[in-house]
Parts: sequence; C-alpha cells; structure tokens
Amino acid sequence: MWNESFTKIDEISRRTLLIGALASSATLMLPPSLAAAEGGDVAASAKAARDAVEAVREAILRISREVWQNPELSLHEEKSSEIHLRELKEAGFKIVSTGTSGIPTAFVAEWTQGEGGPKIGFLPEYDALPNLGNAAEPRQAPGPTGIEVGHGCGHNMLGAGCTGAAFALQKMMIDGKVPGTIMVYGCAAEETEGAKVYMARDGLFNDLDACLAWHPGPMNATGLLRTAAVNMLRIRYTGRTAHAGVDPWEGRSALKGAEMFGIGIQFMREHIKPTTRLHYVYTDGGSAPNVVPASAEILIVIRDQDRDDVNTVTEWVKDAARGAATSTQTEVDIDHFFGLHDLLPNETLVNRIHAHMTKLPLEWTAQEQEFAKACQREMQLPEAGLMPVIMPVLPEITTGGGTDVGDVSFNTPTGLFAIATMPIGVGLHTWPVTACGGMSIGDKGSIYSAIVMAGVGYDLMTDAKLRAAARADFDRRKAGRKYVSPLVETRLRPDGIPQHLLLRDGSQELGVEFVEEAIDSKTPTP
Ligand SMILES: [Zn+2]
Repeated sequence: MWNESFTKIDEISRRTLLIGALASSATLMLPPSLAAAEGGDVAASAKAARDAVEAVREAILRISREVWQNPELSLHEEKSSEIHLRELKEAGFKIVSTGTSGIPTAFVAEWTQGEGGPKIGFLPEYDALPNLGNAAEPRQAPGPTGIEVGHGCGHNMLGAGCTGAAFALQKMMIDGKVPGTIMVYGCAAEETEGAKVYMARDGLFNDLDACLAWHPGPMNATGLLRTAAVNMLRIRYTGRTAHAGVDPWEGRSALKGAEMFGIGIQFMREHIKPTTRLHYVYTDGGSAPNVVPASAEILIVIRDQDRDDVNTVTEWVKDAARGAATSTQTEVDIDHFFGLHDLLPNETLVNRIHAHMTKLPLEWTAQEQEFAKACQREMQLPEAGLMPVIMPVLPEITTGGGTDVGDVSFNTPTGLFAIATMPIGVGLHTWPVTACGGMSIGDKGSIYSAIVMAGVGYDLMTDAKLRAAARADFDRRKAGRKYVSPLVETRLRPDGIPQHLLLRDGSQELGVEFVEEAIDSKTPTP
C-alpha cells in the first residue's frame, strides 16, 4: 500500500501538504468535543491503551527495528515472519498456522481468554521493496543490507504496530478480565500477490467481529477511503520464429499479436466508464529485430470502483486478447493471476479510530523535525517537517490505488488509519520512508498506531453496541453482495514463491518444521 493507496492518491497528498503547512503555522485546530461526540467517550480506554502499550513497548520496537534491519521482498519474508512469530510465542499467543493459505511466509496466531467473547483481528505486514534500501539518515545512503531492498513502504512499522496492538490489547483484557479472542494474521506479500486475498478465499476473516490495521503515511488521518477493485492478467502470445530478412513469410510474430492486443485496448477506451483504468507493460517482446519473435508477453492491470465493473471489463479484455491472436495467426494464453476487491470503509470504526487518535500524545522532537526537513530539502519539497496534528475525519474519497485489505473489508468490518512516519509531501515507496522508519520517527509511528488499535480493540471487545453499529455499516455498504474471490479457482498460490520454500512432496505447501529449518540454516534471501 497499500499497493498504492494512501500516497499515490494525489489529491490527498496535495491536501496533506496544504493542511500540514497550515498546521505547522498553528492555524489548524481540531474541535476535540466534536470528535468525541462522533466517536464516543474514549478517555478511559485511551489511557488504558497508552499504559498497556508502554508495558509492551520493547517488544514493539524490537519488531520494528529488526524487520527494518532485515528487509525482505514479498514472499521471501522468512526472517521477518519469524521475528513476528517469535514475539507472538513469547507473549503466549498460539500459532494456529504457518505457511497459511499456501503462502510460506504467512501465518495466523491467536490468543483467547474466557468463553464466547468477541473476536478481533490485526493485519501485520512485513514485506519490503526493491531498490529502496537506505540508512537511517536524511539523505540517500546504503542501508544495513545495501540499497537493493528496503522498507520504503514502512511495513516494518506497520507490522510492529499491528502485532504490538495485539500484545497491548491482550494485557488490557487480562487486567480487565475481558473474555474474547485476538487474531493476528501474518499478511505476507502486500506489495505483490497479497496473502490477504488467499486468506480471504479460505474464509479466515469470516468469523471476526472486526479487523483493524493502519498504514504509515505523511499524515495523521483516518476517513472513508475507498480503493479500487483490480484484476491482473498476463497475456502471452506464441508465434513461429524465422529470419526476418530471408523468409519472414515462414514466421508468425508473437510481438505482432501483443501489439494488436494493445491496439484493441486503445480502441476500447472510448466505450468504457471514465472510472475504468487499463494499464499495461510489455514484459517480453523479442530480443533482435532480425529474428521474428516466437514469444511475447503483456502484463495488464484492470481497475474500477467495484468488482462487478472490473469483471465485466476483464471479459472484454480477454476477447481483445483472443481477437489479436486470430488476426495475427498466433496463439494466446491468458493467465488471470491476481485480483483485489475494492475497500469498504466503515464509518463506525473510522469515528472510533479518530476519537482515539485525538487522544494520542503526538509529539516530535526538534531533532526529528530537523531530520524530516533535511529529507524534504533532499527531495526539493517545502520544508514543512512532520505533521504535528491529527487531521479531521476525511470525507468519502475513492482512489485508483488498490490494497489487499479490500478483500478483508468484504468479510468483516475493517477500520484503517494512517500515522505520520514520514515528512509532509513525501510519498510512499521513496527512500525517506525507509530512512525515517529506521529511527525514532518510525518508532513513534509503531507506538502511536499500537495505542490507537489497542484502544479501539478494547472498545470493540467490551461494547456490544459498538460492534453492532460497525456490523450495520458493513451490511449497508456490502448491500447483500456475496464475497466471490478475485482469484480464479485453479490458482493455488502466488507465482512469486521462491523455489526453496516449496515442499517437494507435490503439495507445494509449507510445513511448520520447514519454516524453522529454513530459518535455522540462515537461508540467504535475495
Ligand atoms: Zn504499504
């Protein structure tokens, strides 16, 4: 992310910059009484959450810092998932599964107290990104493992905040003798073929009362954010090679098939909804002009505001792919390899999250503000520093970005928010995100987010009316639609799982023993 959401939303980024600048000059004041009225009186649970997070502070920071020190790409998160599992076991959580839903680095952990209480879930992520390794310094410099991989989306903090919130909530429930179950879903590969989609297909979120998550961002905000529904297709053409100068009539160019498909997509554009996005790249187009290419491939992403529209356009795209093959006398293979649901916001949860956010002890030191401004100078951005306030609840906004949290949000009421862990105006997937995530700014993001989620989690555990209101908003927005996985039935697992993590018994599922063996032998990660 959210593959692209919170930051690739230009409108929000621009607004953030503006509001941040206003806030810096102390002209923006939140009306706290209004927030409290909408989100409920949370003074007691907010204070208890702060104390509980203080008690588990070291575990939260261990996760955030160790995952930052060991950045791993999507589906390769062996060390990172093990760091979360180690801390969860230490805190007394039961490890329900590893290798969950066919994904070696995904897991589910659980802690229960008493009988028949509510069930609340958290969604830690921990994958990093290519080419975003950076030191915890306000300039581009190699990080602990170089520059090849780094936490440029801040998932070290995201994961630490979510798992840390589970620890703090556990403590609050023990202290208050509150019955209930806390679920922690190890959400591997958010940046590519998100594990949440596979988990959702397996029904893992169906019995939750609610699910909570956050994302690092340039702002402290929550709101009725909607993201796009997505399908991803790999279209491969196969032709017949020949010498392009001597006897081209013997050949059939796979590249021509791919190009004809591209032309078909351009001709569709006039007749699709303005909300539809079709974007593609050629991932294979031959290697020499004097050789008729026997193979070519296009990767296309189809987006719209909801699944039904995406599905309709996807069928047309497939027709265009087949038509291009017919007209070029090539063969086409269409691999619908991934998809996402749009994100259903939840007003009840957003208001409650906001009420807790307004109680945060949000504070940046002069050194942290200077660090942020130095990053902004390097990025040639206005030196507005870090956002010092909580923004008002954002009204409903739809972005073209997508997230695998969408598939969770179609199965249980889901609450999301952002905490500032990067300077105002800086986008996700950039080096300052990695830099800030490895020092005290990132530590604060992990801690603040854990406080908010522990507080909201405790309210949900103890307040049946709040749970019912969240459920009612979920039902209203879902409007009777049945959840249908965006994954095609024949797809067992993501494509990108490294070979050494697949078992050799044919099932290609990962066993618990195998995880430990892999970690113990310090399997090198790319
Ligand atoms: Zn992200």
